[in-house]
Amino acid sequence: MAANPISWLLGLFSLDIGIDLGTANTLVNVRGKGIVINEPSWVVVNKRTKETEYVGATAKEMVGRTPINYIAIRPLRDGVISEFEITRAMLEYFIGKVHQQTIVPLPQPRVAVGIPSGATQVERHAVYDAAMAAGAREVMLIEEPRAAALGAGLPVKEVKGTMIVDIGGGTTEVAVISMGDVAVSRSLRVAGDELDVDIVQYIRNKYNLLIGERMAEQTKITIGSAYPLQSEQTMTVRGRNLVTGLPATIEVSSVEIREAISASIQVIVDTLKDALDEVPPELISDLLDTGICLAGGGSQLLGLVPRLREELNLRVWIADDPLTCVARGAGMVLEDPNAYRKFIVNLDNVHS
Ligand code: ADP
Ligand code: MG
Repeated sequence: MAANPISWLLGLFSLDIGIDLGTANTLVNVRGKGIVINEPSWVVVNKRTKETEYVGATAKEMVGRTPINYIAIRPLRDGVISEFEITRAMLEYFIGKVHQQTIVPLPQPRVAVGIPSGATQVERHAVYDAAMAAGAREVMLIEEPRAAALGAGLPVKEVKGTMIVDIGGGTTEVAVISMGDVAVSRSLRVAGDELDVDIVQYIRNKYNLLIGERMAEQTKITIGSAYPLQSEQTMTVRGRNLVTGLPATIEVSSVEIREAISASIQVIVDTLKDALDEVPPELISDLLDTGICLAGGGSQLLGLVPRLREELNLRVWIADDPLTCVARGAGMVLEDPNAYRKFIVNLDNVHS
């Protein structure tokens, strides 16, 4: 790239933008500025015109309250591009917003986007194409667990193995990394969202009360846990009684919510055990020193750290600022793409 004087000149004036295109939240990291956008990955589409009309925080506000002609969607719900056009519109909105924050018009930006390691080749191309279509000059794709490990400050380029577990909304990404390469990885479609669904089902079955997804998420964040709490808590939840059809409130306890989400938590634990089972002996001995670093919003679930410590017999800790690791890692790759060449996904036969 530097060999081409025009792109070198463009590079001096254009922005380098690292994007964490999360299933729940999209973060944008601008080189030299840090995280400038952190908004929900929601869009509101006009059903008639198929146009994307609202994106991000405004769109999430409208969830469950949209007028009849509109529909609120999360295009990346399962960690993949389910709706190409909408994802493009969303990226365009975020990239445009960054550009609006600058005073002078700038050339098209260079963009690094984090994608789930389980994404198929078709999905990777879709993200690449969406970012190009959204106005990027150059697009690099980075596997999310590697970006997360970088952003978490793990010594990913050393010979010693380290392990990252990124629990987002739609996916849990697991990777054991050594010398910049992924030795063992897992991409599981059980993460924060699934816990919300579990809570909705549990409360419906036990109390005949139908609660919304956002109420369930709030319950999970407030009193959900993966390990007995020192003092168990209760919370009031609101919903609709399925027998009377009328609004109703009930008290639920942290013990109940732990039970509600226990099967999904166990799936995550078992996936980690399964991944560890595959780690070669030398690297396992490294992990005894380095432990397991957690990132992503789901890592903040109460009691997850002691639960994993007990089940996996390793040191477990949460990265600083766990929700921004991927965006910060993507920013690090942009700052020095040559140093992190191994971190950039090689898209063969990319067409744009
Ligand atoms: P993604 O990378 O998929 O966009 P995030 O890393 O932004 O996901 O994490 C979003 C998920 O984290 C959501 O399911 C949200 O409910 C969950 N979450 C956020 N904070 C907490 C918390 N304190 N406890 C448990 N879960 C949380
Ligand atoms: Mg994420």
